[in-house]
Parts: sequence; C-alpha cells; structure tokens
Amino acid sequence: MAETVGFIGLGIMGKPMARHLANAGYDVVIHTLNRETISTFTAESNKFIAASTPKDVAERAKTVITMLPDSPQVREVALGENGLIEAMGEGSLHIDMSTIAPATAIEVSTALAGVGAHALDAPVSGGEAGAVNAALSIMVGGAESDVERAMPLFEKMGKTIVHVGASGAGQVVKACNQVMVAVNYAAMSEALILGAKAGVDPEKILQVLGGGLANSRVMELKGQNAISGKFAPGFRVDLHRKDLNIAMNAGKTTGVPLPVTALVQQFFEALTVAGRGDLDHSSLITIYEDLAHYRIGQDLEA
Ligand code: NAD
Repeated sequence: MAETVGFIGLGIMGKPMARHLANAGYDVVIHTLNRETISTFTAESNKFIAASTPKDVAERAKTVITMLPDSPQVREVALGENGLIEAMGEGSLHIDMSTIAPATAIEVSTALAGVGAHALDAPVSGGEAGAVNAALSIMVGGAESDVERAMPLFEKMGKTIVHVGASGAGQVVKACNQVMVAVNYAAMSEALILGAKAGVDPEKILQVLGGGLANSRVMELKGQNAISGKFAPGFRVDLHRKDLNIAMNAGKTTGVPLPVTALVQQFFEALTVAGRGDLDHSSLITIYEDLAHYRIGQDLEA
C-alpha cells in the first residue's frame, strides 16, 4: 500500500513540492486556504486527497509537511483550533519547511513533544526553480532519528540536505542564507545601476561579470529580471522582508550586530512602502533606480 503523507500550504513553493511527492508514489493529503487549488490538485491526480483542516490532515497521515508564509500561520496550523496537535500523538512527525523564527520552531516542537509527537524545522533555499526541479537545499533542525525518517521525503524535493543541529537550528541557518541572498541582491543592484547610468549596456555588464569573481547564483538566476523590469514572483519582497526581520531578531538575541543586513532590510521596507511587496525580490534594484533617478528596465511589471 502507498505511504500517506500530509501537505499543508500549496503556494508558489508548496505546489511543486507536493507534486513531486505524488509523482514519487505517495498518497498526499492536502490542505491550503485556496479551495480552487485543492480542486485543481484532486482533479489532476488521484494521489491527492482533500482535507478540510490541519487536524483532518493529521488524522489521515502520520507525517505532515507544512509550507506556510510565516510564524503565525505555522503556529495556528500546528497548535491552533483544529490544528495538527489535536490529532497528532506517538509516531506522528511534523516537518515544517516554511521560513519562520527559530523561537517559533522550538515552541512548536516542544508543544508537539507534549503529546508524544516529533517535529523538524526544515526550511529550504533554491527558490521556485529549486522547488520545480526538486533541487532545493534543505537545512534541517531536530533529532537524528527524525531526520532519517524524513530523508526519503526530502530526497524527492531537494538535492542538498544537511542536518545542521537541534530544533531551531534549521531556521537559524536559513536566516544566514537570507542575509547572504539579500546582500548579494544589493551588491548586484548597486553595480548595475552604476554601470547602466554611466552608459554601459547592462546585458554586457552581466555577461562579463558572470565570468569573473563577481559572479553569483543571484546574478545567474535573477540578473535578467533586474535589468528587464519584469518582476513576477518568484520570491515575494514581503516574504524576504519577513526573513530579514527574523535575521535581525536572531542577531539581537545572539549578540551579533548585522550592520549591512540592517541597511538592506530598510531597502526592503522601502519596497513595501512603495507598493512593491508582491513583486519578486529582484525588484530591489528599483529602490536603487529611485535613488539614482534612473530606470534601467521598462515600467514595473508584476
Ligand atoms: P505563498 O504565499 O505562495 O504560499 C503560502 C501558502 O500557504 C498559500 O497557498 C496559502 O494558501 C497557504 N496558507 C496560508 N495560511 C494558511 C493556513 N492558515 N492554513 C492553510 N494554508 C495556509 O508562499 P511561498 O512563496 O510558497 O513560500 C512559502 C514559505 O517558503 C515561506 O515561508 C517562504 O519564506 C519560504 N520560501 C519561499 C521561497 C520562494 O522562492 N517562494 C524560497 C524559499 C523559501
């Protein structure tokens, strides 16, 4: 009989991740806020089974993955009314793959342990392309035996899977990841606006910088977005802004000043204030364009 797994949160990332599990032969019990998405999935394959609440998912699946926007949604789905905790017990495993505060990951894991269930924090990097190509990097916090149990699932969705420490450690590493990505975007944006306003074709800047030490995954995957003014998400500005807040809080509680991150965080705040929170995070370049009174791409497009 096919193994059953629960999946809650079918957004940009959750959709392809859940599809990989179904394609690998799992029966996938699904729940998300958008009813139309549920209907699309159940019409697409009989491997998808609709559930009405997180509790309903946990009643039908011993292992439940969540891929939700932020800490409040994970807390609500795991611990709220009709949450996972109402149906989880001995032998249950919650794998949260969302990006949330490390403290919330520990809170959820501790609460679930109170009913005999286990939890992993397993946030991901690699973006929508990584999710679609089952090539995500997955940074996992929790007990070794739970990581071993979850590994066959992780291998269907990701390529680089590293057990980084105890509960909460996965989210700490994801905060490190988001710091590096945001600062990379800022560096690329700053360089491109300098070259383009000085009169150089930005395509040529990308081409030649791509062959030297300045090259980065950010430039390879999102350089074209940055210079074209086409910013369909991808990864929404509002989600990256949330992640930088998580990183700044982690810096505060750990006693680590993050001065460069603090500056870039303010640029993300400015994007949201400018009404660009739903654009892809490559739209960070538009703040530099505003500052330089110079636009490389065409009008902003979502
Ligand atoms: P998204 O907004 O596209 O999807 C979130 C999904 O959660 C939606 O389908 C929504 O219906 C569902 N949801 C929200 N509240 C819910 C609730 N209470 N009950 C059930 N379902 C609920 O977001 P996304 O881009 O897929 O990102 C998901 C997580 O992954 C976020 O934490 C994000 O930071 C992280 N992440 C995203 C990317 C990316 O490139 N998009 C990359 C790495 C990590």
